[in-house]
Amino acid sequence: MRLSRYFLPVLKETPSEAQIVSHRYMLRAGMIKQQSAGIYSWLPMGFKVLRKIENIIHEEQAKAGHIPMQMPTLQTADLWRESGRYDGYGEEMLRMKDRHDRDMLFSPTAEELFTDVFRAHVASYKDLPLTLYQIQWKFRDEIRPRFGVMRGREFYMKDGYNFDLTKEDALHAYNRHLVSYLRTYERMGLQAIPMRADSGPIGGDDTHEFLVLADTGESEVFYDSEVTDLTFGDREIDFDSVEQCQAVLEEFTSRYARTDETHDEALFDQVPEERRRVARGIEVGQIFYFGTKYSEAMNATVQGPDGKPTPVHMGSHGIGVSRLLGAIIEASHDDKGIIWPEGVTPFHVGIVNLKQGDEEADAACEALEKSFEALGLEPLYDDRKERAGGKFATMDLIGLPWRITVGPRGLKNGVVELTSRRTGESEELTPEQAVAKVVEIYAKHHVRGL
Ligand code: ATP
Ligand code: MG
Repeated sequence: MRLSRYFLPVLKETPSEAQIVSHRYMLRAGMIKQQSAGIYSWLPMGFKVLRKIENIIHEEQAKAGHIPMQMPTLQTADLWRESGRYDGYGEEMLRMKDRHDRDMLFSPTAEELFTDVFRAHVASYKDLPLTLYQIQWKFRDEIRPRFGVMRGREFYMKDGYNFDLTKEDALHAYNRHLVSYLRTYERMGLQAIPMRADSGPIGGDDTHEFLVLADTGESEVFYDSEVTDLTFGDREIDFDSVEQCQAVLEEFTSRYARTDETHDEALFDQVPEERRRVARGIEVGQIFYFGTKYSEAMNATVQGPDGKPTPVHMGSHGIGVSRLLGAIIEASHDDKGIIWPEGVTPFHVGIVNLKQGDEEADAACEALEKSFEALGLEPLYDDRKERAGGKFATMDLIGLPWRITVGPRGLKNGVVELTSRRTGESEELTPEQAVAKVVEIYAKHHVRGL
């Protein structure tokens, strides 16, 4: 992509309404535009990152055997009356009437819809286990939308629902989601720690939230510092194996890690003092097991092995897809701008031409652009007639993890400069070497096609 042809409305000034760094950088880097409180347009670069995050989620869900589909954003109130949540959900639910005076609502979550699809089409225990999910816009009329996409009113969420014959099977689904989420967040360059949490209006006893530690996080968290040493890494896992998923759950949840809602001073005191941490975190996901709460209320049964109708055991599992952009930036930036982790970066590499119009420099940049594209990577070539300082400032702000700088002086010696956004370190390489090195880096990050 040529920057001169792209739509990247970078702001020079720091927007005064933005209180936290991720919000400031998302506005300055031309990723989002606010349309009303907590409601945003996603401009091309913001949209691109959103899609990358979404793709990682889809890939990891597929590995766990979960099946994507799509529900409407608007629903009638009837299903919510059936589950008993319509009156209780409160002011966060955006309610409206259609022209026939029917009560409608904009989905804040979708337990009812999925349960309804399930009961309409699944009749026998032989069709279980089943986990369906969607990635879809949600609306919650938050009392205090703030921090940009972190707490929006309209936000993008992955929500999955498991349907199982027994509690044991549903707990396996719970563990499978925990494992799958650990992998998902790590691929985005994030450490998201599973913490024992409270189930709120969804109901149920078993629930973990995934928290990214950050000073700007809205949740107060308490944990044993050993939890931050754990990584899932590249290990292979068989998602069908109850034992393997159980072992990962135990590894990642046996140490003390809780949100303030479930915090227990007496238990926390048993953690050695030097390992006790009180910090803040951003909730980027949550998993629940809630048994037969919805299946009983909505009559979602299957014929069991004994021939009798049996209410299914369920859980729901959410990832805050749009919130993740904010969380990733909170976790990865410096005073010049964003530093995208390789797994989610909007473009893989920036190409900066120090002397636009110079025949040799232009040709070298175009050749680099073509080489990357042929290899399945996305370069962003800054081909504007601007000073080098301005080009560097834009690249630093938008945070591509790798930059190749091309100028007539280097080309005389047959070299370009490859710079890491994270460390600021540069090395001189031939264009071919620079391409090979960038490709090698992204191959490690499972970029599709490499
Ligand atoms: P919170 O406690 O932050 O209000 P929640 O626990 O009500 O969130 P869930 O129902 O668990 O949210 O939704 C799943 C995920 O969706 C959350 O973990 C969070 O990452 C994201 N999310 C929830 N509310 C919002 C929001 N208003 N804006 C952006 N993302 C949100
Ligand atoms: Mg939650």
